[in-house]
Amino acid sequence: MRVVFLGAPGVGKGTQAERVVAHYQIAKISTGDLLRAAVRNKTSLGLEAKGHMDEGRLVPDSVVIGLVKEKLTEIPKPKEFILDGFPRTVPQAEALAEVLDGKGIPLDRVINFRVSREEIIKRLSGRRSCPKCQATYHIDFAPPKSDDSCDRCGEILVQRSDDQREAIEMRLKVYEEQTAPLISFYEQRRLLSHLNGAESVEDVYQELMRTLSVYQTA
Ligand code: AMP
Repeated sequence: MRVVFLGAPGVGKGTQAERVVAHYQIAKISTGDLLRAAVRNKTSLGLEAKGHMDEGRLVPDSVVIGLVKEKLTEIPKPKEFILDGFPRTVPQAEALAEVLDGKGIPLDRVINFRVSREEIIKRLSGRRSCPKCQATYHIDFAPPKSDDSCDRCGEILVQRSDDQREAIEMRLKVYEEQTAPLISFYEQRRLLSHLNGAESVEDVYQELMRTLSVYQTA
């Protein structure tokens, strides 16, 4: 199974990707997670990416494409993966197609998660995460047991700098301008399935599993 999860920030791609990879025991390549780890570890990549990320802008294509190419060579079962948050621009999608075609492992499917703008803003602005173990919460939909600390490790929760109002607006604008064109890109290549991401996490997961069941891993 080789699948891309496409959609605006906050549609639930990451949450669903976690569950699907746990079920199928395949790799998840999330460029957002990889970039945040690079920022935390203060690598040269992280230092380059941080400013773009804090403002809600995209990290340059060349940087992200290099990162994904590297990851694709590292994963244990390189023929099966979910890409979460990549590609986000047409040049990224073209580079991905070239790499995968070169390896003889083209994409099976692209899942486009759809959620209204209003709901996305609600989800992102209430999101909190643990700076230590990376667990995520939502102040209304998935609150931690105690007021503001992590259920798993007790660390004080934080809001991602790009989940603040101004950065959210920028991320949605960037999505419309640079990522939404991938819907027709993949529609033309007959790879796209739409998914209503506005339902509960469980309902979206069940629908997703039905869609993916035809691409069962060996
Ligand atoms: P995410 O967690 O997927 O919302 O990503 C967080 C941030 O990381 C984005 O707002 C971008 O700044 C950066 N980022 C993640 N994936 C990409 C990508 N494919 N291309 C460019 N920037 C990315």
